[in-house]
Amino acid sequence: MSTTVATEAASRIPVMVPWLGEEEAAAAAEAVRSGWVAQGPRVAEFERAFAAEVGAAHGVAVSSGTAALHLGLVALGIGAADEVVVPSLSFIATANAARYVGATPVFADVEPATGNLTPATIEAALTSQTRAVILVHQGGVPADLDAIRALCEEHGLALLEDAACAAGARYRGQPVGVGAQVAAWSFHPRKLLTTGEGGMVTTDDAERAARIRRLREHGMNVSAADRHASAKPVLEAYLETGFNYRMTDIQAAVGLVQLRKLAATVAERRELASRYQRELAGIPGLTAISDPGYGETNYQSFWVRLDDTFPVDRDELLLRLSEAGISARRGIMAAHLEPAYADVSTPSLPATEALSLDSLILPVFHGMTEAQQDRVVAVLKAAVHG
Ligand SMILES: *Cc1c(COP(=O)(O)O)cnc(C)c1O
Repeated sequence: MSTTVATEAASRIPVMVPWLGEEEAAAAAEAVRSGWVAQGPRVAEFERAFAAEVGAAHGVAVSSGTAALHLGLVALGIGAADEVVVPSLSFIATANAARYVGATPVFADVEPATGNLTPATIEAALTSQTRAVILVHQGGVPADLDAIRALCEEHGLALLEDAACAAGARYRGQPVGVGAQVAAWSFHPRKLLTTGEGGMVTTDDAERAARIRRLREHGMNVSAADRHASAKPVLEAYLETGFNYRMTDIQAAVGLVQLRKLAATVAERRELASRYQRELAGIPGLTAISDPGYGETNYQSFWVRLDDTFPVDRDELLLRLSEAGISARRGIMAAHLEPAYADVSTPSLPATEALSLDSLILPVFHGMTEAQQDRVVAVLKAAVHG
């Protein structure tokens, strides 16, 4: 082994690193020096800028993507006795959100090619109690919105888009977010735009946005920021039971910088993904995620599937990657197989169960080099060619 290879092998390749730099550090410091650190002018500015970026009329910043899902369901009027169709193949927060409002999550299967719900898989989960669907754009792969919006309209169902992973993804030439009744976004460091922790709800409906704004701040009819800004004393009223789901101005300052980098982030990830797709194309038994015909993924997650003809199973491949100094991850989890949902009777979900066992997420991050990508590809090829 040559010394360069030995040095490279020694440096571990991460699965994802947030793209943060001096600009974010300076923006956070500036917010601290301003003396205003809680929800204030920077949150308001971040909300306007983010909503404009994803093509929504209103944005309400919150403390996490999970909080955004929760408030989204409240604002759609979902509650006890309601059933909410959710994909099992998602981060657990998607299903948990239904339980937060007292509703029952009903797990639906996904299509293997995208990992997303389809009209057919949703239809199979509908009952007379179904009131809403949470549609996940899983890993940043846009779901087929037109078909699913039409189905929800036909059955009178609310549609909450879990766009936690989907900032910068596109559907039929427009950003994911355009036309959403309500969409929930996450700014966790595992996503493409981060504020440390954080989230956003977007919607075109002004009344719904106003209610979400109230609910994130204890149900108050006037925000703390507006009360402070007012020359006269303002007496607030609490209109309903709300939550403290506020984002801080420090986070929003970072988010504003991150938002300006979003297009470049997505472009870089799409470059890396297309290089993986070219390099992996010849490997038998392995299929890489790619754009669906109707849209463009942001490649928040670049995943591959192994079929029965691939000589080693997914867990063995993860081990071999790890031994080569590469951090990969199992594919998306299946919530219905977790102990927290053991009490929900779920029919078998063949595509979900298969994907949760035979898919894995490969490293893609800002600044990833061709040499690093080649190391990942080499491990996959060696599994087949020995
Ligand atoms: C990350 C994620 C969430 C939760 O977002 P947080 O900001 O971590 O609360 C919800 N749904 C999906 C699909 C996610 O990937």
